[in-house]
Amino acid sequence: MATVQAATMIQPGEIGLREYPKPDVAEDALLLKISAVGICGSDKHMFAGKMNLSWPVIPGHEFSGVIEAIGPLANRAMKVVGGPLKEGDAVTVVPGTQACGKCWFCIHVPHRPQLCPNRSVFGFRTSAEAPHLFGAFAEYLYVPGDAFVLKLPEGLPLERAALAEPLAVAQRAASRALAPGVPYAGEGFGLGVRCAVMGVGPIGLFVVASLRSMGAGEIIAVDLSGERLAFAEKFGATRFVNLSKLSREERKEQILSWTDGVGPDVVIEAAGVPAAFEEGLDLVRRGGKLVEVGHYGDPGSVEIRPHQICNKDVDILGSWAYPQIQFEPALDMLSRTTLPIDDIITHRMPLSQVQAGIEITGTGDCLKVILSPHGS
Ligand SMILES: [Zn+2]
Ligand SMILES: [Zn+2]
Repeated sequence: MATVQAATMIQPGEIGLREYPKPDVAEDALLLKISAVGICGSDKHMFAGKMNLSWPVIPGHEFSGVIEAIGPLANRAMKVVGGPLKEGDAVTVVPGTQACGKCWFCIHVPHRPQLCPNRSVFGFRTSAEAPHLFGAFAEYLYVPGDAFVLKLPEGLPLERAALAEPLAVAQRAASRALAPGVPYAGEGFGLGVRCAVMGVGPIGLFVVASLRSMGAGEIIAVDLSGERLAFAEKFGATRFVNLSKLSREERKEQILSWTDGVGPDVVIEAAGVPAAFEEGLDLVRRGGKLVEVGHYGDPGSVEIRPHQICNKDVDILGSWAYPQIQFEPALDMLSRTTLPIDDIITHRMPLSQVQAGIEITGTGDCLKVILSPHGS
């Protein structure tokens, strides 16, 4: 019987290749041959035991691939963009399955499908039960009928398409700062608006790229790493604050000097450090917008002064994942951008080196590791 190799996390701290039978596809499902899959900070959190999941899990939620086999009813069951789908098509799949359509959130706020508690997410879902292959650190991913699948735009390389997921996270965060109305009214994000991005790891960098593509003015990148700040310039940041070189007061003064003494219009927190949220609140101008997209994990709390929120007349906005359709503008941007977007891929590795890839993610000059389950 044909087998499939998949990197399986038996429990936190323990990951290795396991073999599974290559499954037949159900009438409404498809089997995806994984071309490229990114390692995410949350895979690192998972490995470190900071996620409460049902083990074992095959991680991997940022991926692209080619349809190996497709059931006759899959096009009817799935939500498809650019279809109909057929064998051999290059696609990406939103890791979160479709919202249930029936729960309180689906009924009352259907435009925020990511709030549905009844979704499951590839790469976080248990692989205990057949057909097991529910994560993309594998040669094949089993895609059931409740998936959302997008055909890749003509000419978009499969490897770059694996960046659609983290880019969708960043685009959603940037879009949160858009305000309805006329952009020149000084409300929210718009052309020429001054932004600060706290933390320029992969998500922060994609936020910078999104803000740049959306017409931002100054983009102030704030980070501890000189290398990451240098990289942020490639994606369109215009000013740079190195946390390791300036005190809290010095950097505030610096940022105020670049923003007419009032602070940035929009601040996006992508560092995932509680103190960065508090500093962002201190920096954002009165009447501005502060977006929190860094805390997918929970590293603890920070003291804030409610008076500051009240006095600043500020909007504080959370951004949790994205509606599935966010993948469409993400793929569009990956196809059209003139930014050197592929440079964020600093490491390419075979599936067998998954543990090394997880370990280097977020360290030194490593931004995004891409695994190629079938070799490159
Ligand atoms: Zn991720
Ligand atoms: Zn629901």
